[in-house]
Amino acid sequence: MEKGNYQVLLYYNYVNIEDPEQFAADHLKFCKELELKGRVLVAKEGINGTVSGTIENTDKYMEAMHSDPRFEDMVFKIDQADSHAFKKMHVRPRPELVTLRLEDDVNPRETTGKYLSPQEFYEAIRDENTVVLDARNDYEYDLGHFRGAIRPDIETFRELPEWVENNRELLEGKKVVTYCTGGIRCEKFSGWLVKKGFEDVGQLHGGIVTYGKDPEVQGELWDGQLYVFDERIAVPVNKKEHVVVGKDYFDGQPCERYVNCANPECNRQMLCSEENEHKYMRGCSHECRTSPRNLYVQEHGLTEEEIQARLDRIEQEDHAVSSN
Ligand SMILES: [Zn+2]
Repeated sequence: MEKGNYQVLLYYNYVNIEDPEQFAADHLKFCKELELKGRVLVAKEGINGTVSGTIENTDKYMEAMHSDPRFEDMVFKIDQADSHAFKKMHVRPRPELVTLRLEDDVNPRETTGKYLSPQEFYEAIRDENTVVLDARNDYEYDLGHFRGAIRPDIETFRELPEWVENNRELLEGKKVVTYCTGGIRCEKFSGWLVKKGFEDVGQLHGGIVTYGKDPEVQGELWDGQLYVFDERIAVPVNKKEHVVVGKDYFDGQPCERYVNCANPECNRQMLCSEENEHKYMRGCSHECRTSPRNLYVQEHGLTEEEIQARLDRIEQEDHAVSSN
């Protein structure tokens, strides 16, 4: 395998797709022929995908997509990679491209916030009268975000409208700009904000990914790393400086390493150093550490005594900290 011989593509397009089920089946076949791996969602309202493959095959894929009138102007964000970023290839029909489940759905081709180029967005977020709202989930924000952006404490995108309703005063009467990974969530969300009566709403066109690739802004004012939904998990954005904002779940030290809680029933994502992963047996709580299904214990073949020794050490050190 040659280094840097792969590409990861990220793309979406809001366009009418008549029969998402049939489209998905055909598209899966096509992706498999090109030996791509990744995740593609297809809905009546369009397509949203991220796939990895060799440069040759991903180039063929983009060319084929662009030759379809529905996707002729679709923008592909391209990252170089050393290998596939996924294990499998899925193409799934879905009722929505991004799950908002609004009673009154938004069609971004009719209503959406003003598109801001990376340069325009950079200027907007430096303006004191602008509220910068992160349209992603809390665990994405915690790994990295635009300096000064508001962090809605939501675990899924569909909680965002309710969060806004409950925090209207933060946004009322202000210029609001939103951003997300590749831009697709903001298409709908900023449209929803417009529908809800916010007058001056902008969105980062092409998302954080495009912002990081822009030769002018070079990701400036982004702190931390970008959370991505593939095996890479974290990718850099700011080419000018790297400020770590992630904090270790256990000790609060700067950290950009995500792991999942070893209790499969919990599976909580947490930033955690290698050292703390071992110390806490990758469990987010005492219950998860002592779960009979703890994957860390299985992977490392820990004996009852070894588990107990680690639990004792945690208790001692936590006690030492709290009595200081
Ligand atoms: Zn847990």
